[in-house]
Amino acid sequence: MKAVVKLSRGKGNMSLMEVDKPTCGENDVVIRVRAVGVCGTDYHIYTDEYATTPPIAVGHEFSGEIVKVGGKVKGLAVGDRVVSELSVESCGVCRLCKSGNPHMCPHRRSPGTFTDGAYAEYIKLPWRLIHKIPDNVSFDEAAVAEPSAVVAQGLLERARVEPEDFVVVMGPGPIGLLALQMAKLYGARAVMVVGTDADEKVRLPLARKLGADYVVNASKEDAVEKVLGLTEGFGADLVMECSGSRQAINAGIKALRRQGRMGVIGIPGPEELNINWKEAVLKAINVVFSFASSPLSWNMVLSMLGRKVLDVESLISHREPLENWQKVFEEIEKGNVVKAILYP
Ligand SMILES: [Zn+2]
Ligand SMILES: [Zn+2]
Repeated sequence: MKAVVKLSRGKGNMSLMEVDKPTCGENDVVIRVRAVGVCGTDYHIYTDEYATTPPIAVGHEFSGEIVKVGGKVKGLAVGDRVVSELSVESCGVCRLCKSGNPHMCPHRRSPGTFTDGAYAEYIKLPWRLIHKIPDNVSFDEAAVAEPSAVVAQGLLERARVEPEDFVVVMGPGPIGLLALQMAKLYGARAVMVVGTDADEKVRLPLARKLGADYVVNASKEDAVEKVLGLTEGFGADLVMECSGSRQAINAGIKALRRQGRMGVIGIPGPEELNINWKEAVLKAINVVFSFASSPLSWNMVLSMLGRKVLDVESLISHREPLENWQKVFEEIEKGNVVKAILYP
């Protein structure tokens, strides 16, 4: 079968090639990949800024159809339309696994990073990670379930958006645009989305379309002053950090009210960040970090997708056959992509 494989560490070293089809173990299902989203992580694996264990097929945001089930698989059948959690090899017996957090298990190895991923015609996964897609949800929409689950974990399970929160979302990428929607859905009284000049053309207008009450280009306008102006000097209740940028994190601390909360999903670059920790301490801010997604995050997101309350379709800016993955990565470099979907 065809797959896009990261062959060795270092910049690039990725290509479309012929590889063996996965074999199905007794606890596995084999899935025909019908749509796979291009994540920032995939791009950073390409540029070698994200750790990986090559050779592996990349890609982890996918949907597909089961073509094979192992002998010990329960409740799944050939033909089922599915998505999958990414906690491959989580042990199931440690304290984190047993408390519903297999995504934080020290043994977890996620597909597309440490095991073979979904930029491929077929992918094999343990059956206990699989979720069926509601009938009214397309393969394209379902491919966005994974980043949506990351946001559900960060915003709903970790930072816990509350009724009447004034929410600021730092970074209008797919994660930020999903955080905007979920914050509105679960009780925020207003959501401000903050980006920079690079987001002016595509992402900030999209934030407006998706229901942002305020949209700020921080290259031109002071987001902190704007928040203070809109809250009678009080500050925001919740900042969702979806950018990984030092400037955004420090602006977030300044924009928060005393005892405000910061939920952190954005992963910063390799350099150590110079953060205004003192102001965060003096304001008694709750900083809540979040990584990946729990099984519950997936249940919640598939419910939202089935109820049609989450607009993931609008996030899809590019659709290409898998063969054109490099073209999509070039578009990402130019800043033109919100979410691209590839079809193996
Ligand atoms: Zn991703
Ligand atoms: Zn474990």
